[in-house]
Parts: sequence; C-alpha cells; structure tokens
Amino acid sequence: MLQLTDIRKSFALGTLAVDVLRGVDLEVAEGDLLSIMGPSGSGKSTLMNILGLLGRPDSGTYLLNGRNVLTMNARELSAFRNAHIGFVFQSFNLLGHLTTLENTALPLAYRGRSRRESRRRARAILEKVGMDDRLDHRPHQLSGGQRQRVAIARALVGNPAAVLADEPTGALDSDTADEVMNLLIRLNREERVAVVIITHNPVVSLLCKRRALIQDGVLLEDGSGQ
Ligand code: ADP
Repeated sequence: MLQLTDIRKSFALGTLAVDVLRGVDLEVAEGDLLSIMGPSGSGKSTLMNILGLLGRPDSGTYLLNGRNVLTMNARELSAFRNAHIGFVFQSFNLLGHLTTLENTALPLAYRGRSRRESRRRARAILEKVGMDDRLDHRPHQLSGGQRQRVAIARALVGNPAAVLADEPTGALDSDTADEVMNLLIRLNREERVAVVIITHNPVVSLLCKRRALIQDGVLLEDGSGQ
C-alpha cells in the first residue's frame, strides 16, 4: 500500500548539505501497526512529512496504493493526501471554533461530500471512538484524551489507507495515553487501517506489531515484531 524505496533527503545548512534521510526503504501494508522511534534530529519528522505527502524527497520512489505520488503536482497531491492519509498530532490540531461533529466531518467537506453525508459518516465514526455524546462540544470543552479521540475520528472519517500519528500520546497523562493507544489498536484491527506511530515512548512502541528505529537517517526494523 505504502511503498518507499531508497528515499533520500538533505537540507542545506549554510554551505553544508545535511543528509537527513539516507536511503530509507519501507513498506506498510493494510492493517499494519508500525512504530518508528529515534532520537531527536534523526529524521522522523522528515520521514513522516514524506509519508504524508507534505514533503518531497530528493530522490527515491514512493508508491501509495499503486500510484507514483512523486510525479504528482501540488493540486493532485493534496487531493490524494486527503483521500488516502489521516493525520493525528501530539497537539490534536482541532479547529477551536468548530464542534466535535464539524471537526470530524471536515475532511469529507474538503472532498466535496454533501453536508448530510459528511455528518452521517462523522457521527458513525464518533460512535466508534466513544465521542457520540459530545457532538456539539467545542475542543476547549473537552479533555485532552477526548480531543485526541475526536482527532482520531477525523483521521479515520474518510476511510484512509493509513493513519500517520506523530507522538499521539505525547501530551497526555499515562492513563489517558493508554486509552488512546488502546483505541488506535482497536481501530487498526476493526477498520483494517494501517497505523504508523512516531513515538519517543518505548511502551507505545512495544504495543505495536512492527517496530522500526531511525538513526542518522537510516531506518532499521526490529524483526521480532513481525
Ligand atoms: P526528528 O523528527 O527525528 O527530530 P527531523 O526530521 O525534524 O528529526 O530533522 C532531522 C534533521 O534535519 C535535523 O538535524 C534538522 O535540523 C534538519 N532539518 C529538518 N527540517 C529542516 C529544514 N526545513 N531545513 C534545514 N534543516 C532541516
């Protein structure tokens, strides 16, 4: 589904070129649950941006559902991203003036779906994450764990191929973090959606079926998770 081959990326630092990704190969299949750990500055965000079609590598290939995404123009990329990738962030990134239902329905509205259909689908997924009793709340009326549930519903509402989660439990206390991880694990199983989690937390990583480590721009997978 997601197939990256020999992905390379460097950034210019003054006159120096810093090699941030140095030949990353990664395949993510339907239903995978993969964690990526690595020290600060190892290239995790850069890789996540490329996986999420927010950044382009300097070289390599990336096939997403069989399409070569690196040949797409900006408009095609953003439509493809909206249809195939869901994002979950450490800081939730919900829109403060929108309700739970409106935040969740947003990706479908961007896709041009009718208000009625978007809301119907948003309600169904909010039921799955246990937030259907807070449809009219705004983010400031919700706890951190509840906000992350809404963000997870928003990530899943369009039936994406993969959900990319960047430190999804980083802003939560440990009990709430457990709940959010259990939710991601359940949705990964029930919805057959691939989930890729970037984390600093070894406990989160241990809950994942596949585990990879990125160090100095090289991705190594821990075979014991498979
Ligand atoms: P991580 O997410 O693992 O902390 P990043 O992918 O954010 O790592 O960054 C990897 C390296 O690339 C860091 O040394 C960072 O300073 C550098 N870097 C990231 N983005 C840019 C950029 N836009 N311009 C220059 N250097 C960058």
